Order: sequence, then C-alpha cells, then structure tokens
Amino acid sequence: ILTVEKTKKWMREIQKLMEENKEQLTTLDQAIGDGDHGINMERGFREVMLKIEDTDYDTVADVLKSVAMTLTAKVGGASGPLYGTAFLKMSMEMQGKEVDETVFKAAVKEAVEGIKMRGKAEMGEKTLYDVWNQVANFLEEEPVEDWGALLEVCQATIEDTREMQATKGRASYLSERSKGHVDPGSMSSFYIFQALMTVVE
Ligand code: ADP
Ligand code: MG
Ligand code: MG
Repeated sequence: ILTVEKTKKWMREIQKLMEENKEQLTTLDQAIGDGDHGINMERGFREVMLKIEDTDYDTVADVLKSVAMTLTAKVGGASGPLYGTAFLKMSMEMQGKEVDETVFKAAVKEAVEGIKMRGKAEMGEKTLYDVWNQVANFLEEEPVEDWGALLEVCQATIEDTREMQATKGRASYLSERSKGHVDPGSMSSFYIFQALMTVVE
C-alpha cells in the first residue's frame, strides 16, 4: 500500500496539514505546554520535505529513515524524538520488504512500541501515545481500507485526552490543571493519519 512516491506524497500532505493547522497546535500547546507544538511540527515537516523531495530513494524504508533522522535532528521539543522514533521503527520493520497491508500494520505496531519505550508512556497519560496506540489496536481488527473509521477512532481519542490529567511531558507540570484541554500531540498525530488517508485511498 506504500511506495517511495506515495511515501513522499504522505510527507507532503503532512507538511501541508501542519502548516494549515500551525496556529491550532500552538494554541493547544499554549494551554498546557510551552506553546511551540505548531512551530515544531511545521518546521519539522518542512525540513523533512527539504530533505526528501529531491532525493532518490530505493525503498519506502529508506524514505522513512530519512524522515526519522530529520525530525529527531530538527525538532527541539519532546515531539521530535518521539515522532523520529516512530518513523524509524516503521522503517526498520519495512526494511527489505514490499509494504503491503500486513507489513504496514506491523510497522505501525512497532512505531507504537517505539513511542512507548522512548516516552515511557502508557495509555491514558494524555500524550500522542494514546492516539498511536488506539490506531494500532484498530488496525489489528480492521482492514487498512476503513479509513473513515480509523480517523473517527483518532478523533474520539483526542477528545478522550481532554479530561485526562497529564503525567508525562510538560503538561504534567500542571497536574490537575492539565484537565479540560486536549493534548496537542494527539492532534498532530491525527494529522499524520489524515494525511496517510489521502495517499493510500
Ligand atoms: P515540548 O513539550 O518539548 O515543547 P512539543 O510541544 O513539540 O514538545 O510536543 C508536546 C507533545 O509531546 C505533547 O502534547 C505530548 O503529546 C507529547 N509528549 C510529551 N512527552 C511525552 C512522553 N513522555 N511520551 C509521549 N508523548 C509525549
Ligand atoms: Mg511544546
Ligand atoms: Mg518546547
């Protein structure tokens, strides 16, 4: 379901969504963090496109490795290394394989494990891990083609983060007061999967 060209298009779509929603992500992060999540995401994926757009890649794994290294290197915040790890784990799982539905699902699962390890995150801690974990759970049961339902799962999870108390990342400094706001990283994760939908459909 993914080729080198489709993977590049995926990243281009992510970049577009991060640019369009930069203010929204920043506003969310102003409420419970330091107000830079939109800036981080917009810059990160702009750098990704600068890196990959005119580079020739042999495999999807190679593209995603480049994406991972760029995000880790260019995004200062917590989200950079976390997304970097996610894309690196996907790349490792795809290494030497054609990316069909089975490989893709396994790759997402690996990404989720990577985020969990890197962020020491658990479900329900009001982080982007919540969305990734729910996506992996969904994919275990459903075909990849059911994108509408997948995005609904993402949106419901974002909404679930609203009443959670953050116990990881900057928002955890607010303890009780982190409640009442959705997690910015959950929202940017949604855009990553929304972008993917436009590519694999
Ligand atoms: P920073 O908090 O360093 O300014 P960003 O604002 O770019 O970085 O990203 C914040 C997002 O990162 C949060 O909304 C949350 O989803 C995610 N996050 C932070 N810490 C963790 C963690 N330990 N595990 C998983 N996700 C995390
Ligand atoms: Mg921030
Ligand atoms: Mg920051």
